[in-house]
Parts: sequence; structure tokens; C-alpha cells
Amino acid sequence: MSLVHDLKLAAMRVLEKAPDAIGSISSVRTGEPVIVPTFDDGPTPGRTDAVLRALADHDASATFFVLMTSVRANPGLLEQVVAAGHEIGLHGMDHRHLPTLSRAEARDVLARGKAELEDILGTTVRWFRPPHGDQSIETWRLIREAGMESVIWSGTSHDWNPDTTQDARVEKATANLARGTILLFHDGHAGPADLGDEVPEPVLDRYELLDRVLRVAEARGLRAVSLGRALEHGAPVTRPHFNLHPRHLPGALRR
Ligand SMILES: [Zn+2]
Repeated sequence: MSLVHDLKLAAMRVLEKAPDAIGSISSVRTGEPVIVPTFDDGPTPGRTDAVLRALADHDASATFFVLMTSVRANPGLLEQVVAAGHEIGLHGMDHRHLPTLSRAEARDVLARGKAELEDILGTTVRWFRPPHGDQSIETWRLIREAGMESVIWSGTSHDWNPDTTQDARVEKATANLARGTILLFHDGHAGPADLGDEVPEPVLDRYELLDRVLRVAEARGLRAVSLGRALEHGAPVTRPHFNLHPRHLPGALRR
């Protein structure tokens, strides 16, 4: 038996006992015809502005999970996002895989990221999206301890993937659209400057992608709102979302 296999079994036993208690928000249970677009890694010039234009053209709102490295580089853009009435969540101080950090380090970057963002916004930050979607039970707990809820997604636009077409992205994003779907998009591209992995950025028209997805949603009677707005008349649906690769284990557990 491998270490990974043993860990998966151990985690499954924990999850079976408390499936809801340690889940991340993946969608919203709601009677309202709404979906929740979310945007990671921004704010960044040439990307966030395209997204803001598409949202405005559809009278839509969304939740932006910002990176503090991007916020510091583009403070004016964050102001524009807020002024347009969108909701802000935290994606991190930087784009490191949280489960690779020591417990003390992870706790520190979550607390400092939240404090710095709240200082700029003057409001409480409720939501956290883990960089790379990577999460261990320990980092999930630390997100909670920092006073935030972990938010993942139930649909993705594949706008991070350079090896696909715009048509395929629209199809992916809209295939299973339903009331309460949380959709993953990006309005930035995290890289080594954000202490993230070096990955190629796809060349795509982010306005066109979002415009097309929102058109399909509207044709199905669904309109786009922020997570906070959707939860005013709905309840969070949570599911366990953990990456148990040994590379992502807390320092103390790494071999
Ligand atoms: Zn990211």
C-alpha cells in the first residue's frame, strides 16, 4: 500500500463521519434562477477590465478572488471592481500551494492576506479560494480559523487551459449550468512573480468567453450574481475537496 493510498483511506473515514462539516462551498441550493461567476488571480490590466465590461453589459455581478500580489500591483483596478458592485474574496497573499507550507506559515499568510485586504476594502472578507484548488484537511481548518469559508466551484470555463478552443470552453462552462452553479473563471494569470508555478497563459478573449457563457445562461433563464448575493436567498452546498498528494502535505507530515 502506498502512502497516498493510506492517506486517502484515512481521509475518507474522516469524511464519512462528517461530510458537511469539513466541506468547501461548491454551489448554492436556491429556488432563484441564479448562477455565480467567480474570477481568480486578478486584478490585472487587460483581463479584469474585459471581464468588468462583459458583466456590465449583462447587468451581472460576480465574486472576485483576488491575489494580494495582483492587488498591490494594480490598486486602481481593485477599486474599479468594487465600484462596479462586485464582491471580493481572497485567493491568497501569493499563489503558493498552501498545503506545502508549514502550519505556522499557512496560518500567517491567511491571516495577513485577510487583514491586508480588509484594510483596503474596509469590509469583512468572508470567502477564500485556495490557490490551484489545493487543500488539505489542515489548510481547510486554518482557512476556517482565519475567519473565512473555503469556496471551490461546480463548473469551470477552462480559461486556464491553453490547449483548448473558445467553443470548447463555452461548451464546458454551460454544459451543466443550473440554479446555484458556481463557475470558475480567471481575470489574471499567476506565475513566478506571485510565487506560483510557471505555467503558460492561454491567449483568449475573456470578454467574448464570458459574454457567450452569460448569453447561454440567460437563454435558460439564469442570471449571474455574486456568491454573497446568491446566499441571501439560498444555502451553501459543501463537498469535501482535498488534494492528498504527498507534495502537498503540511511540512510536519512530509517525508
Ligand atoms: Zn489561482
